[in-house]
Amino acid sequence: MTTRREFMVSVPAAAAAFALADSFILESGPARAQQIDPLQGHFHPKGKAPSKFTLEVLKNAKATLPFGDKRDFEEQKKGLIAPMKDLKIMADAGHVAWDMERFQFLDQQDDFDTIHASLLRQSKLNNNYGLYEVMPGIYQVRGFDLSDISFVRGKTGWIVFDPLVTAEVVRAAWKLFQAHVGGGLPVSAVIYSHTHGDHWGGVRGIVDEADVRSGKVPIIAPIDFMEFTVSENVYAGNAMNRRLFYQYGLLLPASPHGYVGQGLGQAISAGAAGLIAPTRFVEKDIEEFEVDGVNMVFQNTPNTEAPREMNTYIPGMKALWMAENVIASLHNIYTLRGAQVRDPLRWSKYIADALYRFGLEAEVMFASHHWPRWGNERIQEVLRGQRDLYAHMNNQVLHFANQGVTINEIHNVYELPKGLQEKWFCRGYHGSPEHNSRGVIQRYLGFWDCNPTSLIPLSPADSAPLYVEMMGGAAKIMARGQDLHDEGKYLLGSEIVNKLVQAEPDNQEAKDLLADIFEQLGYQQENPGLRNSFLAAAYELRSGIPQGETASSSSPDVIRAMSTELFLNFLGIRMDSRKAEGMRFTINLITPDTGEKFIIELENATLTNIQGYLADKPDLTLTINRSDLELTMMGAKTLEAQIADGTAKVEGDVSILKRLASTMVEFDPRFEIMPGTKGKTEVAGYIESGIIGPADPYEAVPRQTIAE
Ligand SMILES: [Zn+2]
Repeated sequence: MTTRREFMVSVPAAAAAFALADSFILESGPARAQQIDPLQGHFHPKGKAPSKFTLEVLKNAKATLPFGDKRDFEEQKKGLIAPMKDLKIMADAGHVAWDMERFQFLDQQDDFDTIHASLLRQSKLNNNYGLYEVMPGIYQVRGFDLSDISFVRGKTGWIVFDPLVTAEVVRAAWKLFQAHVGGGLPVSAVIYSHTHGDHWGGVRGIVDEADVRSGKVPIIAPIDFMEFTVSENVYAGNAMNRRLFYQYGLLLPASPHGYVGQGLGQAISAGAAGLIAPTRFVEKDIEEFEVDGVNMVFQNTPNTEAPREMNTYIPGMKALWMAENVIASLHNIYTLRGAQVRDPLRWSKYIADALYRFGLEAEVMFASHHWPRWGNERIQEVLRGQRDLYAHMNNQVLHFANQGVTINEIHNVYELPKGLQEKWFCRGYHGSPEHNSRGVIQRYLGFWDCNPTSLIPLSPADSAPLYVEMMGGAAKIMARGQDLHDEGKYLLGSEIVNKLVQAEPDNQEAKDLLADIFEQLGYQQENPGLRNSFLAAAYELRSGIPQGETASSSSPDVIRAMSTELFLNFLGIRMDSRKAEGMRFTINLITPDTGEKFIIELENATLTNIQGYLADKPDLTLTINRSDLELTMMGAKTLEAQIADGTAKVEGDVSILKRLASTMVEFDPRFEIMPGTKGKTEVAGYIESGIIGPADPYEAVPRQTIAE
């Protein structure tokens, strides 16, 4: 356990630059002097070792885990055809798109004193990296991305399930597959199981769009797929992208003290994401048809893990594809990056339906994350366990809520029943019982705990100074906070030190203490999203928020997937209403190529639109093909230029567009989360692919697609 430090992994360039930059801005006051020396093996100069309390928490947690059940390890390695030899996969843009080297440290020790044993186990399982046989005719490449890519033998070629996040890793997966079992046959069809970006973003790495257009390669997806691929991530997209820095620990180097995987998979690939629109949609609840000569039964499961999702059963092979509805983890009811809370009861019922419709005879079950399950008994065990997992969460949380337990207490009250706790595939590597139970209350009752104190509360920064004053000032809080830290009472410590940080955002000593507290809490977590969030906050409290961003701008494909209405709605969000006071106008927008028409009105400092109408006396009529408008939406050509060269026709008062443009604000994906962390560290150009320029006033800017 003491040799952990020998396995310090390569720190990504960005984080290394950070740690370096940070050492120049370290406070060198006497109180902190003893902490200037970085902990050996820790990526951050202010990083700390796990305390004896953290070691105790991790030891006790480990003792309750069902380590006797080793079936996941057998299933994870079963059917290995060829490991992937290259630990790095390069992006076309020249940077590293995928890096498994940084996760090798996980396999070099049985234990780490800074990683929850359950999370470490999951991360070791996710270190599988290569080509696997699911059964003759079905293969998976695993460990090339957050998700898996699967190949099913059709009559003329290979049917691809869920082509990962980016094209480069998909190409590498295809190459490995072809080198061993592909037999040179082409891709004959693609199936997108659901709307999240890690299930379609790499499609251009494996399919030529012309072949899709010509009908040679069908792409099959659940009904309304296009409407929901981007819509979940647009309106609050910038906030979600910022929150990814916490949930996915984007600034944390892979290290025993930092990032140790994401539970669903090791990480998200960083190549080029694209999207080719599906050509066939599964519309009914259950639909059966042949795909390249293979009979498939599709089960739509809307509003479960994703807004649109479907399972697939292949009767001829007794193979059940559970998409992302059943994986080797408790999934998110509420996702920390932010999204509408999912419906656990419906989710449970769709699993039950799959169990009784397909699961009584299926002999292999595979999914878009993790590894397959073989044998009907095992399949039923997993389906039944997952069915009960989501139903229990729904029912027992509401059971408590109906007895007065609030959203602020439920995570301390709710527990999974023993039987589910002892199933590895029900443990929280994506969702956690803590944040999911709060999510269930949010879904049914919303944010308010019904105590009027929290009905219209002061902002934290406004109430904190009174707390600090009443507690006797900063020095007293620091002393008590340090005591609580030293006693291992980290949650209590975070309560009061957070008040001080809220009141005094420039108090670096307070921020460092809060970071120390968060770091211990981070080490103690089983759930990677929780771990990353504590460690990310510690990082930003110590170093400040970096300049630059990891999120790359959205691809033209994703912009194309946005409906015009969604785009117009988003402009209403980008508009700073305070800049639009007193403006009033009506615009008719016509897109001849798609036959759409809209009335866009600015009135009461509010921008609205309604599809299907044209105003009788508009101030301006703008006629532009949707295909041209897309160039403006993606920032490739301004609306001004479209008008100047006659691509867009205008009638009426064109100056309106200028006035409207003046109200548009570009969202900065580096806004402050913890007080006093903004823009402290300047690292220019630290992520090669993601530097953003100022957005055009009429750009759509949903930023990157979000994997889940
Ligand atoms: Zn996924």
